[in-house]
This record gives sequence, C-alpha cells and structure tokens, in this order.
Amino acid sequence: MKIAVIGLGHMGSGMAANLVKAGHSVHAVDLNPDAVAQAVASGAIAATLSQACDEAEAVVTMLPAGQHVLAVHDDVRRLAPAGAILIDSSTIDVDSAKKAIRLASDAGFAMVDAPVSGGVAAAAAGALTFMVGGSDQAFAAARPVLEAMGKTIVHAGGAGAGQVAKVCNNMLLAITMIGTCEAFALAEKLGLKDQVFFDIASKASGQSWSMTSYCPVPGPVPASPANRDYQPGFAAGLMLKDLTLAMQAAAQANADTPLGAKAHALYDALCAQGHAGQDFSYMIERIRRGA
Ligand code: NAD
Repeated sequence: MKIAVIGLGHMGSGMAANLVKAGHSVHAVDLNPDAVAQAVASGAIAATLSQACDEAEAVVTMLPAGQHVLAVHDDVRRLAPAGAILIDSSTIDVDSAKKAIRLASDAGFAMVDAPVSGGVAAAAAGALTFMVGGSDQAFAAARPVLEAMGKTIVHAGGAGAGQVAKVCNNMLLAITMIGTCEAFALAEKLGLKDQVFFDIASKASGQSWSMTSYCPVPGPVPASPANRDYQPGFAAGLMLKDLTLAMQAAAQANADTPLGAKAHALYDALCAQGHAGQDFSYMIERIRRGA
C-alpha cells in the first residue's frame, strides 16, 4: 500500500518505521529535514506533500495540534485521490477533529480520528493503543493500517469519539497520579516508608495504574520514571496539553470537572516552574514541597 505519513517527530517516526516493516511503501513528509532523514534511514521515501499524496491509498498525520491538522488536511484533500483513507493520530481538540472529518466527508474522503495511548517506546515497538472515531466504513478502511502500528484498536464511536476517549482517559490519569503523589507524600510525613505504603496500597482499594505501573517514588516499580530521575516517560508538558484539551471539551459540554480543573492548575504550575520536560510523575516533588 502507498501510505503518506506527515509528521515524523517522536511518535510519527516510530509509526512510519512500523508501516515500512509491515511492507508498505511509506512516503515521509515533515517540515524538519532531520526528521525526514531519520524516516529515510528506517526505509521510508522522502517526499513533498504533493508527491506523498499522489496516488496514496492512506494518509496518516501525526502533528502537534488542531491548527496543524486542519491546515495540512486542507492540502491533503486537494492532493490525495478520493479513495484514500485519511487517519489523524495527533492528539487534538474534539471540535477540530470533528471539523476535519466533516470537511473530508464533504470532499468524498473517509476519515478517522485515531489518537494513541502509549508513548515513544510504544510507537517504536508497534504497540500503541488506537482510540478511533468515525463511521463503520472509515474504521474498516483504517484498521489494517492501524494494525501495523498498534496492538489494540478500539472503535470508540462517530467522528471525534477517539479524541473524547483520549482526553477523558488522560484527565483521569492526571487525577490518579496527583492522588497517588499526595498519598505517598502524606505517608512519608507521617513516618511510613514508601515501600511499606506501596506494599499495602497496591493490594488495597487505593491501587491504580499510577501506583502499580508508574509509581511516582523510586523503588517499588523498577521501570517507573521515578527510578531514572523522572526522565520521561510521558512529559508533564504533554500532560498539561491533554488537560487543556480536556478542560476545553468540558467547557463546551457544560460538564462539571472540578478535579480535572485542579489537575490542570497543578500541571500548569509545575510546567511554569520549569519542569515541563520531566515526567508527569514528578508532580510528587511539587506536592512534597507544598508549592
Ligand atoms: P513532535 O513535536 O515530536 O512531532 C511533530 C512533528 O510534526 C515535528 O517533526 C514537526 O516538524 C512536524 N510538523 C509540524 N507541522 C507540520 C506540517 N505542517 N507539515 C509537516 N510536518 C509538520 O510531537 P510528538 O511527540 O511526535 O507528538 C505528535 C502528536 O502525538 C501530538 O499531538 C501529541 O500530543 C501526541 N502524542 C504524543 C505522545 C508522546 O509521548 N510524545 C504520546 C501520545 C500522543
């Protein structure tokens, strides 16, 4: 299959490499020549947007934000053949995702929003989870392409439903992480050793993924970023981005999300203190300090 991949950053580079491994002819587009060179080293073909879209059977975008996706897709709809399946895997606001799919559909294209869970390592390993929004027909067309890049592919519903699932999941993740950090910090202040609290809470009703897979203190979960000086992992700045999208979606839906709003404020403050590049579990340091 001829596939255009647009956006070859931290995530898109690994995704493009897995499409090559699956035997596809991958045409790589990025504003950054170094990103294109890296994709070429993994077997992709360097291309302009026009070359990549010409006769493409699928177009995958993995871009920073909604404005980039809408701008690139204005060109994609002009350049790609009508039968191509359009897949946007970027994490963007729900409204932009719906708009891109509506414009694609008006122009005769099938399109899905297919944001991912799993970071750079999962992208490189072809182990992403895709949450997909779009029609049954668009989902069926996207599925074989997504299967080359991910392990779990879930059809969440109509246009934008993938982004809804993504922002709701990440809002919940931020809240459980902050709660886990608070509980460890309080246990420490009250004289309990981290390992002792972990041994109890990880088997009791306080357990969550944030505790058992991604523990914010060093020791109990050897693979968690806390054991490597909070190198990400999933950077606090990316969590702030997703919480901002969640708060936008909540405001538009008139949904009450008090803990989401508090989580947003806390990650905003953590990033403003210069920690956007550290793992999001570094929140524990802010909570230990009390500011
Ligand atoms: P990144 O900044 O590393 O990569 C984005 C790439 O898009 C860059 O190489 C940039 O040059 C390119 N780009 C921007 N505008 C372009 C344009 N008009 N045409 C062509 N290329 C263009 O970002 P990333 O970490 O790969 O993340 C991509 C998306 O995936 C984001 O929406 C992010 O929120 C989401 N995401 C990231 C992670 C993660 O751990 N990094 C995890 C899940 C989801």
